[in-house]
Amino acid sequence: MRVGIGYDAHRFVEGRPLLLGGVKIPFPHGLAGHSDADVLLHALIDALLGAAGLGDIGAFFPDTDPQWQNADSAELLRIVYGELSGKGYQLVNADTTIIAEEPKLQPYIQQMRERIAEVLKLPVETVSIKGKTNEKMGWLGRGEGIACLTVVMVKQSTGPL
Ligand code: MG
Repeated sequence: MRVGIGYDAHRFVEGRPLLLGGVKIPFPHGLAGHSDADVLLHALIDALLGAAGLGDIGAFFPDTDPQWQNADSAELLRIVYGELSGKGYQLVNADTTIIAEEPKLQPYIQQMRERIAEVLKLPVETVSIKGKTNEKMGWLGRGEGIACLTVVMVKQSTGPL
């Protein structure tokens, strides 16, 4: 068994859709970023890469590469999980905390879990997602953006554990 941690943060910007966990959430602002800026999927990707000792999302998908401009992060997740699968790793579970003053995320949590499980081809119980506010403190509390923390555990079916 191996564990990995991922963190990501993006600021709000006008004129983009808000994507979290591969789900489009109705909100007046989206997140700024080179790709679709799906902060949850980016934290999950970093956690997976960390668990496998494969570096980080920036090394895999450089933000200087036009190929990844406005990229669908669900597709990036699919690519990264394919890398792990190729090395014999399987996700045991992922636990995620999204930190956002708004929007309220509870109505979308189950949809996000199902979307991620669908991308990874794993049971929905593999993916836990929790929403928190930052109690009005700091940049998160002022609603300037969204941050996300993810921890994963992976197991390797072949080779040393
Ligand atoms: Mg990011």
